Amino acid sequence: MTLWLLGTHLDRTADYLDEHDHVLLIEATAFADRRPYHPHKLTLVFAAMRRFRDDLRARGLTVDYRRAETFGEGLDDHFDEHPGDDLTMPRPAAHGAEDRLRELVDDRGGRISFVPNPTFVLTPEEFDEWADRRGTSDPDTYRLEDFYRWMRRRSGVLMDGDSPEGGEWNYDEQNRETPPDDWEPPAPPLFEPGETVREVASWVEAEFETFVDTDEAAPFRWPVTRKQSLDALEQFVDARFAAFGPYQDAMVEGEWAMAHSLLSASINLGLLRPMEVIERADRAYEEGDAPINSVEGFVRQVLGWREFVRHVYRRSMPAMAEANQLGQTETLPPAYWTGETEMTCLSEAVEHVRERGYAHHIERLMVLSNFALVYGADPHELNEWFHRGFVDAFHWVTTPNVVGMGSFATDVLSSKPYASSGSYVNRMSDYCSSCPYAVSRDTGEGACPFNSLYWTFLREHEETLRGTGRMGLMYAHVDDKDEAEWTALEERAEAVREMARNGTL
Ligand code: FAD
Repeated sequence: MTLWLLGTHLDRTADYLDEHDHVLLIEATAFADRRPYHPHKLTLVFAAMRRFRDDLRARGLTVDYRRAETFGEGLDDHFDEHPGDDLTMPRPAAHGAEDRLRELVDDRGGRISFVPNPTFVLTPEEFDEWADRRGTSDPDTYRLEDFYRWMRRRSGVLMDGDSPEGGEWNYDEQNRETPPDDWEPPAPPLFEPGETVREVASWVEAEFETFVDTDEAAPFRWPVTRKQSLDALEQFVDARFAAFGPYQDAMVEGEWAMAHSLLSASINLGLLRPMEVIERADRAYEEGDAPINSVEGFVRQVLGWREFVRHVYRRSMPAMAEANQLGQTETLPPAYWTGETEMTCLSEAVEHVRERGYAHHIERLMVLSNFALVYGADPHELNEWFHRGFVDAFHWVTTPNVVGMGSFATDVLSSKPYASSGSYVNRMSDYCSSCPYAVSRDTGEGACPFNSLYWTFLREHEETLRGTGRMGLMYAHVDDKDEAEWTALEERAEAVREMARNGTL
């Protein structure tokens, strides 16, 4: 009986570790040959696996750490030594992974069974129980708010008896402040690379084609062990949590992290459990270390959104990966790869990704995917771009966020697109003041590219969007424009597209 763990199963607190004394980890490299991932993502995953191996060995477990091209080759070696072995694995989150892994094991004369994956709060059966009881008229659409309230009641987190702590379920309105000019976000945690990280980073640099070259990226800084991840969680609670709530949606030039937790990669790899992170946040509230708008905002992300997208993905695949309800087909502009554009917001966000494999939520949603959406980019190319570029990216999490939330290629998890003109970026950031494009103008040379793309996007997709019921105000503005305005908007949008395509935006 062997416990086979993937690089996203690095949870040293899991019960199943007590039931096995033999662990298999396969460091397979073929996936990294197929796609040019960010060098920090590859360094993070491989270094975290190696440190986890060392940790388990220090606890007395026998760990077979096999370095191979593919899982198949790693399993060949395993079954040569342990013919007919029974394997156990926590359920992988990627669609189809269980079937693919079972086939690989069956082909080699072994057996595999799957156990609950502690990287998520809910099991599939528990989510399905909620989903099947919803009583919605469309069984294939899901809305966060009901799910989130159910999760709060079920877990008792931020609950005062049967009522939400503080009287409201949601403090969204208090998550939209922009910081004063003299605000300086506390320095984000920095984990100096140890021997394993340095060794893996050099190997990654020599071995793989990557999203950016190592020397174009900033120094590697991500936590690769549970101890470091717990330290990152404490640093967040101590130094950043209070500001997280008010400035959750804000963007400031030169500030890549703001007061975000930077914990997604640790949670997605299994180094931190979502529930322990939520409970830590809840305790910070009880102890008066963070205000309700910070704590509720954070709990909504981890207990609400993260669980929600994971299970909606599971239930909506494979259709979600193919969806393109708006029929968008443009190739991503070269600026997404080079970061070279005069648009301050886009160049800042892309540079953040290029430097560290990270951009915070609002940059992801309201700059990177909003621009791609109104530009008309193919949602699947955008999904691929996110998957390659981010340290925390895995198919189960990019697909619902990029194809669903960001691109509105399907309406399974939101009823309207997150599309906006430059005015959103202007309201939530200081980017527009240093941008050569004028956010106040929609048309003509020098007008903010977001503006004409936004209005022409609304007009082009009117049939699908007007009917969603939540776009009424926007379509009132569409209806107000006369044909001369539309001609000027179309001309500007076409000029913007041309510049974006040829890399001169
Ligand atoms: P914080 O802002 O501090 O939020 C706290 C935690 O909440 C995060 O660590 C994460 O675990 C969770 N969370 C918040 N929102 C979401 C969400 N929508 N889906 C899942 N978890 C959420 N998240 C990823 O983990 N990997 C991705 O590849 C990813 N791609 C995204 C792409 C797009 C277009 C969008 C709109 C969102 C994406 N997200 C992704 C969700 C979210 O943006 C990131 O989880 C978050 O920015 C990570 O930074 P943080 O840890 O500082 O998060």
